[in-house]
Amino acid sequence: MHASGALQVEELDALDPGGGLTPEIADKMVENAIGVTALPFGIATNFTVNGKDYLVPMVVEESSVIAAASNGARIVRAAGGFLAQAQGRLMIGQVQIVECPDLAAAERALLQASERLLEEANDAQPGMLARGGGAREISVRRVAYSGTDRTDLVLHLYVDTRDAMGANTVNAMTEAIAPSVERIAGGRALLRILSNYTDRCLARAACDIPPGLLATNALSGASVRDRIVAAGRFAEADVYRAVTHNKGVMNGIDAVLLATGNDWRAIEAAAHAHACRAGRYTALTRWAVGAHGHLHGEIELPMPVGTVGGSIGVNPAVRTALGLLRVETAGELAQVCVAVGLAQNLAALRALVSEGIQRGHMALHARSVALAAGAAPELADTLAAEMAAQGEIGLRAARHLLARRV
Ligand code: NAD
Repeated sequence: MHASGALQVEELDALDPGGGLTPEIADKMVENAIGVTALPFGIATNFTVNGKDYLVPMVVEESSVIAAASNGARIVRAAGGFLAQAQGRLMIGQVQIVECPDLAAAERALLQASERLLEEANDAQPGMLARGGGAREISVRRVAYSGTDRTDLVLHLYVDTRDAMGANTVNAMTEAIAPSVERIAGGRALLRILSNYTDRCLARAACDIPPGLLATNALSGASVRDRIVAAGRFAEADVYRAVTHNKGVMNGIDAVLLATGNDWRAIEAAAHAHACRAGRYTALTRWAVGAHGHLHGEIELPMPVGTVGGSIGVNPAVRTALGLLRVETAGELAQVCVAVGLAQNLAALRALVSEGIQRGHMALHARSVALAAGAAPELADTLAAEMAAQGEIGLRAARHLLARRV
């Protein structure tokens, strides 16, 4: 599938410098806007998820991200593609209840009043109910504060926000039910806001790769497979490695989130909380030798993405990205995002356990180095090739080569 066939000419126009975002629109999006900035908008190829092919839009400044994602996806595509699922679309709203005189009685009363509170929440945002979503469940938790004997209650409101991230919807609902919560609990509602740890909105992806597809010039497929499994275990066991491993996973995911106008801060925050869910920071992916000696990879992440809401309908380049991706629902976008994370991780680990990350990375980065040294864009490839040939990629080398041309 080619991008030129997937997009109308007017959609491509939105990718002109500035991403189609005029200063006038920008000024309505944030306070004190003085202009717009630009980042490269590219397409990761070779993605097959649940039997469907995708061209994946990415907005990113790091030179190797799109190439690595496409490379990982190419290997998985030859193995039949990714299997992915989105589990649940429940966002969580929190109402913190302080100064509650009887925690047990308040807890009981709130749970008994669940139906009434859910109705109140849905009355505040009737559109979500009409769309088949809305407030669905209530739970009550106790939060104890270390170093004191104080314990507060926190009410959780679970809301199906359909194709929206739903932050504003959930915030509006928690504020709407707070007066009733205070009355029922006999305490005071302090914070009323969504939780960004969206562990009831998880997406998973998996892949199974015959070792033959992993072979490099120097290593057999079985050897690459075993080394990837060992590298995965290292990331599971060691926080210093896990953070880098997970940064690599998020390289591609963040780029898709940026391209599709999603709140990448929210998903970054949720991802790292999820990496700590067992009480210790660990890897977001798992690699193992599976059936028939295949390399089995898995990823699970909170993925509260939206295909509507926020700035999605406002930014022209975002509309182009969603047009390119052709996802029907937010759940489908979530599945593509986790597949991207797994592809990115596979490509990085395969490079790391074989020739190392630097050769491929620097070969791509060399063009940015050439530009930073002052080369005209049409000279960047030539200068990058010359630096690679002489085995030194850096500003000094680029400037030297450039000086020799004048
Ligand atoms: P939003 O306020 O634009 O609400 C979504 C809108 O889309 C609703 O009006 C809904 O009626 C409409 N809609 C149309 N079709 C829909 C469909 N199929 N499914 C669901 N809704 C549909 O956006 P939001 O998603 O409530 O909030 C997202 C924004 O909130 C982001 O910009 C985010 O950055 C911001 N935000 C985040 C936080 C946080 O993460 N802590 C806090 C506040 C705001």
